[in-house]
Amino acid sequence: MLYRTRLVLGLQPRLAVNALPTSARAALVARRLISNTSCSHAEHDNHRHRQEHLASRIEERTSHQAHMLPRELDVQGNEVNPYRNGPSALDKAVHIFFFTEIIRGMWIVLENFFRPPYTIMYPFEKGPLSPRFRGEHALRRYPSGEERCIACKLCEAICPAQAITIESEARMDGSRKTTRYDIDMTKCIYCGFCQEACPVDAIVETQNQEFSVENREELLYNKEKLLANGDRAEAEIAANLHADHVYR
Ligand code: SF4
Ligand code: SF4
Repeated sequence: MLYRTRLVLGLQPRLAVNALPTSARAALVARRLISNTSCSHAEHDNHRHRQEHLASRIEERTSHQAHMLPRELDVQGNEVNPYRNGPSALDKAVHIFFFTEIIRGMWIVLENFFRPPYTIMYPFEKGPLSPRFRGEHALRRYPSGEERCIACKLCEAICPAQAITIESEARMDGSRKTTRYDIDMTKCIYCGFCQEACPVDAIVETQNQEFSVENREELLYNKEKLLANGDRAEAEIAANLHADHVYR
């Protein structure tokens, strides 16, 4: 009975107390007064501790915010209102009353309605590519037709995906040439490290990005495939390297 009464008191104290007979009302008010007084009951102790904890947290946060946002003072030591340069209440009311934000939003829509579209009809139209674009790999030759690669294996060593496999042999004139140069394009992450590491610009990444295939084996490139890529795109590769040479 007491428990139910306390619930009613918590929700609608005035109505509940007024609806009760005088004697019962007096008893409940007296009980309520007693519950507000300090006592050694465990429930009240817990409540007090919680309140103290909350008060200390609020104080701590306030002091932290005060540290984060130091008050601005003028030359006479008076506190300066940090919002003094913001819009006034009248400004805000005008914007709300005349729907200026909606009108500005609609103006942007109208502007874009008359602009040329940003979309292009790929693959018939293509967007510009940077000279540094990193696409399909290629091995280059000198104009004489000789392979540039000197089998130093720097590209193999630096490749983070371990996608490059090189085997080499010494030739009759003492120079070294590759007998095998494979790139597993399924492992490659197109980081461009191999191109950066190569001392003779032999391995490069072309601007070709359209080399999708139908099975995995076609992405295991060998030396012949890489040299063929280089022969086909040599003019484009040379132009891109020249455009980028000041940054290398
Ligand atoms: S682009 Fe990066 S991941 Fe791909 S072969 Fe070169 S070094 Fe390896
Ligand atoms: S491609 Fe360049 S870095 Fe790689 S082995 Fe040949 S010369 Fe060395």
